[in-house]
Amino acid sequence: MKKGLCAAILAVMLCSLLAPAFAETDAFDADDSILRLVNKQHKITAKYKPELVKPNVPTNRKDQAEYIYMRPEAAEALEKMFAAAKKKGYNLLAVSGYRSYQTQKANYERKVKETGPSQSTVAPPGASEHQLGLAMDLVCESYRNLYTKYLLETEEFQWLYKNCYKYGFVVRYQTGWYRITGFSVEAWHFRYLGVAHAAALTWLNVPYETYVEKARELPDYVITDGNAYLLYGLMNSGLNLVDDGKAFNEMLEMPAKTKKQRQASIKAMTKKLLPEGVTLKYALSGKVKVK
Ligand SMILES: [Zn+2]
Repeated sequence: MKKGLCAAILAVMLCSLLAPAFAETDAFDADDSILRLVNKQHKITAKYKPELVKPNVPTNRKDQAEYIYMRPEAAEALEKMFAAAKKKGYNLLAVSGYRSYQTQKANYERKVKETGPSQSTVAPPGASEHQLGLAMDLVCESYRNLYTKYLLETEEFQWLYKNCYKYGFVVRYQTGWYRITGFSVEAWHFRYLGVAHAAALTWLNVPYETYVEKARELPDYVITDGNAYLLYGLMNSGLNLVDDGKAFNEMLEMPAKTKKQRQASIKAMTKKLLPEGVTLKYALSGKVKVK
C-alpha cells in the first residue's frame, strides 16, 4: 500500500475514533448553541447560518421587515416580550435581527471606510451576535433611533431593562463594559440566552464574557439544565466569592454520573442557594421572579 494512502486511511480511522469527543462541544463554543459566545475573539464561521423564522412583531420602518429574522426559540421569546410590553402600553419596534457573514462584512467595511479602523460600533464579520440569529436591535415608538442616551430615557426601555431577562434576553453592551466586550454601549442590542442564563446574568450585572469565563468551569449538565436561581447563586459564589467560592467549588464535586444523580445534585444545590421568598418547586420549574 502506498504511504500516502496508508496515512489517509489512518487519519480517517483516527477521526472516527475521536468523533464522539468532538461532538460534545462546549455550550459556549458551538455555533448552534443558544449560549454561543461571540465577540472579536470568538468568531463564528463564515458559512454558519441558523434556522430562521420571522417573528411576528412590528418594525421601525416597513422596509426593515425582511431584516428581523431570528432562530425560532428567540423569535418566540421576542413575540412574548413584545406582547407583555404592549399590555403595559409600550410599543416596541424591531430594527435588525439576523445578519449574514457577508452582510456584516459589507457593513463593517463601509463603517471602516467612513470612520477609520478604530471604530467600535460595527462588529467585524464573524464577530456579530446577529449572525447567530439570537440578537435583535430594538427601538420604541417614543424614540426611534439607535441612540443610547435617548432610548434609555424612554419608559419603554426602562421597562425593557427591568423585564427582558424574563423572556430570555439580556442587554449585552452596557456602560463601563467596553474593555471587556470590545463594543461601545448599545442600549438597543438585545441577546437571547434563554431565561435561566439571562436572569442569572442580569442579576449579577456583569458582561457575558466575564460570566462565560467562569461558567466554563462548571459541569455541562449545570450549564444546560441549571435554573436561574442555581446559576445565579453559583456564579455569585464563583465570581464575587460571597462565600469564598464555596458553593461554586462544591458544585464541581457533586455526583453526576447518571441522569438521576445530576437531577438530584441540581436539586440539592438549588435548595442551598434559594433566595428568600422562592420555593424549591418554583425555582426548579424554570420560572423567574423579579429579584
Ligand atoms: Zn445589534
